[in-house]
Amino acid sequence: MAKIAFIGLGNMGGPMAANLCKAQHHVTAFDLSAAAVAAAVEKGAHQAKSAAEAVKEAEIVVTMLPAGKHVREVYEKDVLPNAKKGVLLIDCSTIDVDSARHVAGLAQKAGHEMIDAPVSGGVGGATAGTLTFMVGGSEVSFAKARPILEKMGKNIVHAGDSGNGQAAKICNNMILGISMIAVSESFMLGKRLGLDAQKLFDVASTASGQCWSLTNYCPVPGPVPTSPANRDYQAGFTAAMMLKDLLLAQQAASAAGATTPLGAEAAQLFSLFVNSGHGAKDFSGIIRMLDGK
Ligand code: NAD
Repeated sequence: MAKIAFIGLGNMGGPMAANLCKAQHHVTAFDLSAAAVAAAVEKGAHQAKSAAEAVKEAEIVVTMLPAGKHVREVYEKDVLPNAKKGVLLIDCSTIDVDSARHVAGLAQKAGHEMIDAPVSGGVGGATAGTLTFMVGGSEVSFAKARPILEKMGKNIVHAGDSGNGQAAKICNNMILGISMIAVSESFMLGKRLGLDAQKLFDVASTASGQCWSLTNYCPVPGPVPTSPANRDYQAGFTAAMMLKDLLLAQQAASAAGATTPLGAEAAQLFSLFVNSGHGAKDFSGIIRMLDGK
């Protein structure tokens, strides 16, 4: 049983902390939202009054926060000044690569090990303990973190040094954003040409157009009964989250001198979709905008 501080108990962090409690770890939880802390306590966590208090006795600190600025702030103000020497720090938030490397550098200077471990799998995966973790950090830190990550996820990949977990996450999600637009455009064109959506699915899902956005998450109702298209695009993964990740990818591309014209176009289109009031819808709902609805 490890003493774990868990900071950030939102849609993802709440169920992840609950799975650590279920695995008999001693979890001390903090969030700015009292309701989020109360929900974690109900699942077996111990309440802390501040992030600083949460980390004081911890052997492991897990953070699951909205963005890079929150992670920098919490680490600089609360975690690093208060954690015991030699603590293992695991940041599961999806943030920019620069912030991830900056914070890992500060942690190392303070004598701690740190990994960036963003996830995919959404709230369903967080609740079921089946998340995919993409990890950046040293081999030693990865090996230490693995048993903890295994309580929250199934597929755990060491992607390289600090920041590479974030790099893997945004590269993957750039593929996803672009491919969802590609699949949506094809179904929209097919419809205009008088092609039945199921027929297009039957062909493309077994031909060279096959991809996850088509076969697992088809953006039109019918061919994949579990896809959000069958429930009015009620979110599994929101358009706002997709936009966040596409903008992180663009920020990283510009810093790294990479040319990603389709990634840039996807970011623009999702911006339009989100700014027209659809940020809370599933990202596959972008087909409705592309279809002129
Ligand atoms: P969320 O907004 O539901 O939760 C974030 C929590 O952090 C909130 O409860 C908030 O009160 C808390 N918080 C913010 N600043 C804080 C601070 N200074 N101290 C303590 N708590 C603080 O967000 P979420 O959906 O749980 O996402 C968390 C992270 O996971 C994000 O980086 C997101 O991009 C990533 N992510 C989300 C999903 C998803 O489907 N929701 C999937 C993969 C990755």
